Amino acid sequence: MTDSIRQQLLDALARLESGEQARRGMGQTVELDQTRTGRLSRMDALAAQQMAAAGERRARAQIQRLKAALRRVEDGSYGDCLDCGEAIAPGRLQADPAATCCIACASRRETG
Ligand SMILES: [Zn+2]
Repeated sequence: MTDSIRQQLLDALARLESGEQARRGMGQTVELDQTRTGRLSRMDALAAQQMAAAGERRARAQIQRLKAALRRVEDGSYGDCLDCGEAIAPGRLQADPAATCCIACASRRETG
């Protein structure tokens, strides 16, 4: 069971990391366009660049979560809620393999 979880985490990690490379390539295209387009489209390009940067931050955060989840698979604590220590529901882990806490603790975190 942990082997398939591990594989799932590695797959998600590989997808994110290849997506990050694709985004870097897009950023370069935007820069090239800037040199030969007007003010308005340059602002568009800047907005697109900011969006790409935000997406990259999200992807990097997710990569960190996945790596942390892999470490928990290695030390055997994967699937346990970090807050209360209860097992995280399998459906929740399926939806988000990098989930660190159970539904009860997650909703408690959201509401504060
Ligand atoms: Zn919990």
